[in-house]
Amino acid sequence: MPTAYFNPPECRRHDMGDGHPECPARLAAIDDWLIASGLDHALEHFDAGPVDLKDVELAHTHGYVAEIGARLRECAATGGRCAVDPDTSANAHTWAAALAAAGAAVRATDVVIDGRADNAFCAVRPPGHHATRDQSMGFCFFNNVAIAARHALDVRGLKRVAIVDFDVHHGNGTEDIIAGDERVLMVSLFQDPLYPYSGAVPKGTNMVNVPIPPYTRGGDVREIVEAMWLPALERFKPQMIFISAGFDAHRDDDLGQLGLVEADYEWITLKVKAIAERHAQGRIVSVLEGGYNLHALSRSVGVHLRALADL
Ligand SMILES: [Zn+2]
Repeated sequence: MPTAYFNPPECRRHDMGDGHPECPARLAAIDDWLIASGLDHALEHFDAGPVDLKDVELAHTHGYVAEIGARLRECAATGGRCAVDPDTSANAHTWAAALAAAGAAVRATDVVIDGRADNAFCAVRPPGHHATRDQSMGFCFFNNVAIAARHALDVRGLKRVAIVDFDVHHGNGTEDIIAGDERVLMVSLFQDPLYPYSGAVPKGTNMVNVPIPPYTRGGDVREIVEAMWLPALERFKPQMIFISAGFDAHRDDDLGQLGLVEADYEWITLKVKAIAERHAQGRIVSVLEGGYNLHALSRSVGVHLRALADL
């Protein structure tokens, strides 16, 4: 069966202003690379509508969803730009993009659980892993992966899911939402110290947080994954795996100082895939988070997808 690919057009219209690293060109670079490399033909393209707010409220508070919804709809109505935090702002298209990004993650979850694809990748923005239960921050509005994971559990009836986060930044929002939810195991690695300056002390026993110092290279990261992530994932036996796929730990990415390269992303993807094949019928939904050097991002997504799709 194929790998499902979601790239909702709404996600390209959210724009936080000239010079902002989390820019629409990220998605264009990924699509260009997939077409140029021929990989695009091997993927099964799916559409997804906007997320149902009932699904969003599986991960965020009702009050937050109402408040951010009102703000972003007002932004859409006036066509103006509104600041959300010092790094995060909205334009007229942000509300539609946030709904489309989370909608893709949820639909991808359904497509994989229903057996219409082996696994799925969502090329979406805004990203999600900094969005907490009740706060937007760090370029994120809705926590796409946490929403999808809760959908798998609460709506589709799975008993155990894992979240793997290899973005260079700590997924503080995901941790805030799922710490203490023993149906979820979250394994992550992130540069420390670095924004959002959290994660060194995990908030729950279901979290495997691995802070790593700046300038750590791929070989050392692989050893960490072997020692810290894989045994925990093996013990947990997840029925499905979600990946917060940020590619900003790449050597060429200026938002962090880690030294991963494409071969490391391929290696990590294959290791996670092997766990999914042993315990989860191969079910993986991977959702784009960070990754800001357009060349490194598109090549890294390429190897990640090649590994997911067995190509
Ligand atoms: Zn990041």
